[in-house]
Amino acid sequence: MTKTIFNVKKLRADFPNLGVRIHGKPLVYLDNAATTFKPQAVIDAVTEHYASGTSNVHRGVHTLSQQATNAFERSRDKIRDFIRAEKSCEIIFTRGATEAINLVADSYGGAFLNKGDEIIISEMEHHSNIVPWQILCASKECVLKVAPFNDQGELIYEEFEKLLSPRTKLVAMVYVSNSLGTVNPVKDVIDAAHKKGAVILIDGAQTVSHLAVDVKALDCDFFAFSGHKVFGPSGIGVLYGKEKLLNRMPPYQCGGDMIASVTFEKTAYTVLPYKFEAGTPNVAGVIGLGAAMDYVRSVGLDNIAEYEHELLAYGTKALSSIDGLRLIGTAEHKASILSFVLPNIHPHDLGTLVDEEGIAIRTGHHCTQPVMKHFGVPATSRASLTFYNTKEEIDKLVKAILKAKEIFK
Ligand code: PMP
Repeated sequence: MTKTIFNVKKLRADFPNLGVRIHGKPLVYLDNAATTFKPQAVIDAVTEHYASGTSNVHRGVHTLSQQATNAFERSRDKIRDFIRAEKSCEIIFTRGATEAINLVADSYGGAFLNKGDEIIISEMEHHSNIVPWQILCASKECVLKVAPFNDQGELIYEEFEKLLSPRTKLVAMVYVSNSLGTVNPVKDVIDAAHKKGAVILIDGAQTVSHLAVDVKALDCDFFAFSGHKVFGPSGIGVLYGKEKLLNRMPPYQCGGDMIASVTFEKTAYTVLPYKFEAGTPNVAGVIGLGAAMDYVRSVGLDNIAEYEHELLAYGTKALSSIDGLRLIGTAEHKASILSFVLPNIHPHDLGTLVDEEGIAIRTGHHCTQPVMKHFGVPATSRASLTFYNTKEEIDKLVKAILKAKEIFK
């Protein structure tokens, strides 16, 4: 029996995708850091929009358009509440975390960073929180500095502090690492960046499904996340930004909906958040994301965090019991992500073999090649757990790994 603080079996019934069979076996889905399954409530919200509520938003006086606009803006309010932002105008819809980070690099970086200014990231960033800053540094002649992590996969905070200087203009850091599971001390990082007068962006792509986030208490300037990693639709994400900063920033993309007036001589931009939402948005995605926020709130992030902690402890012990298995990422503060390597079995081979047992794990560099370099491995296998996973599923993974080991003996 799984000891839980909520009824996992009942919650699993909310996710139709958990019911599929792979190679004739019940699916064990352990790839939640790549994307999460959607509860029926989210699927229904998206379907309902397309079945009976299809309309563009913000532009129509007809009833359907007004209803779609209301649903769209209600979602924005739900997201504001979910991450505890002060105002709905601070919630900008993007395609995902990637676009949110690119928006800040392009708009804020383009307008306010200059030759010789410094940007600090960490060694454990996802490529989407590395490459936009590299491109910005190349175009503005800024300097990119990288704060290292130790062999447990923990940020070496003192080394981060040493990188801060009067020239630090921006810090961009991941809250929860997708390949290591490390939960970074972002509050300390934010406060330290602010003491130097730098702005700070938090990559929350792996955070919002695991931990309750309060952007006001954190006092971060920007916070990015993707809908599909928090049980919402893909193709929709969020950039939170402080109103006073967003107001000062130039638009990122230009076109319909982001203007106040246009003549051939001059265009005036409209107000937040629309200034950053050019063109027809992903209306169904936004509505679906609102439903995901409702769903996660109903389960309760504190319950989720507690249960995932229990799963993580169980999974860590179970995997560690496998002879030769090396866990990659053993930070004291971790979310439920288990990366590992095995001697003599390439992660891709392992991924293929466990797939035959109906088990979905991710193998590869997880868009964090510098992390792989740190540990001297080309790739890892990664099991990423969420609240609909069970200890029984972890047992199945262990069994499948042992079987793969036998094959490769
Ligand atoms: N940051 C982290 C930590 C991630 O895990 C991911 C997705 N793997 C991203 C950013 C980018 O998210 P998306 O691809 O949804 O834009």
